[in-house]
Amino acid sequence: MEYALGNVFGLDTFLLRCWLWSRYSRFTGSVMSSIVSGSRLPHIKGSIFADLSRAAKKRGAVNLSQGFPDFAPDQRLLDALKETVSGNYHQYGLPEGSEMLRQSVARMFRNLYHVEPAPDTEVTVTAGATQAISAAVSSLIHAREEVIFFSPAFESYAPAVMLAGAVPVCVNLRPPTFDVDWEEVEDRVTPRTRMIIVNSPHNPSGRCWTADDVKRLAEIAEKYNLLVLSDEVYHNIVFEREHITAISDERLKQRSVVVGSLGKTMHVTGWRIGYAIAAAPLTNEIRKILQFNTYAAPTPLQQAMAVVLDDAAYRGLPDLFLRKRNRFIEGLRNSRFGFTPTGGGYFQLVDYSAISELSDTEFSAHLMETHGVAALPVSGFGPQYAQARLLRFCFAKKEKTLDAATTILRNI
Ligand code: GLN
Repeated sequence: MEYALGNVFGLDTFLLRCWLWSRYSRFTGSVMSSIVSGSRLPHIKGSIFADLSRAAKKRGAVNLSQGFPDFAPDQRLLDALKETVSGNYHQYGLPEGSEMLRQSVARMFRNLYHVEPAPDTEVTVTAGATQAISAAVSSLIHAREEVIFFSPAFESYAPAVMLAGAVPVCVNLRPPTFDVDWEEVEDRVTPRTRMIIVNSPHNPSGRCWTADDVKRLAEIAEKYNLLVLSDEVYHNIVFEREHITAISDERLKQRSVVVGSLGKTMHVTGWRIGYAIAAAPLTNEIRKILQFNTYAAPTPLQQAMAVVLDDAAYRGLPDLFLRKRNRFIEGLRNSRFGFTPTGGGYFQLVDYSAISELSDTEFSAHLMETHGVAALPVSGFGPQYAQARLLRFCFAKKEKTLDAATTILRNI
């Protein structure tokens, strides 16, 4: 199986895109030439998350691949949804999102990080964090500009950049620490560089920014006048250190878009509600794109979330997920899998090099087919990691699910 992104890594990305285009358009030639004048994303074959969840369902496997909880959300949220459904919340909302929900998000940032984005001009509700990412890129990036991102990377970053006609420039993070080499980042900046996409806690490694990372990012962004897209969807789930939001740094505040996910915060990823926080001039541009995209996110879901998004909804998340992480890694102790406990988010990387020399997609297919456990190959986040022999397991699951998986994994 081959996933996403081709190889935009370390090569001249424009040439690479031409190569990918010529290669893949040949496969699909006959139909494409008559109906579609060349795919906008010729190397994309489908979402790795959807592919694996589909395959896991078909196989009846324990699914620790795609990142979503298998436990019920807070009863308060379900009750609030029931009330909105029987109330008057069925028509279009505002394109920028429900006022009450924008206020709740702003309050969460004040309570957790002592920053206070203005709900009216700096907070925008989106249909999931993925939409916030694509809207931020398409509204702020022009054709032929360059956008630096770090690999392994969430699957939507590079396609969002390519759809804007811009060039994704990849900086590879090295296992096992996945630390950022800021000198390398600075070396990759050119006169065309316009944005850096960062992600903390990092998916898939769980690495969380240090204060020094934020300082170095701020220095580079300021020196070269760059925008920052800060994907902080797991900000509520950090174990060892405090999360640092990009907008807590004065230099980054005016040039950053912080993306978050209420689906992740409230255990309802299928509700597709996320947000973008950015200074007013940036927010203004992002909203222009959103209103012509979905117009507005679903009204009743926003209303229910706005009622329930308070301290009680997120203060307990680090403990909840730390218990789950620990349950998962304890279950793996006496197995042949290796790991360093993850620092944040809800994924644990696991090294299978003591078990197999297969590539990660082959090993993940073997694990699913032979043993009935679905995990995500890290090469889905960057094909250059295919031989790193790392799989990503989502531990945002019931104890029963985690135990079922680790019982199998211990015997491999
Ligand atoms: N962020 C989640 C993951 O990494 C999934 C997101 C999605 O499926 N769109 O698994």
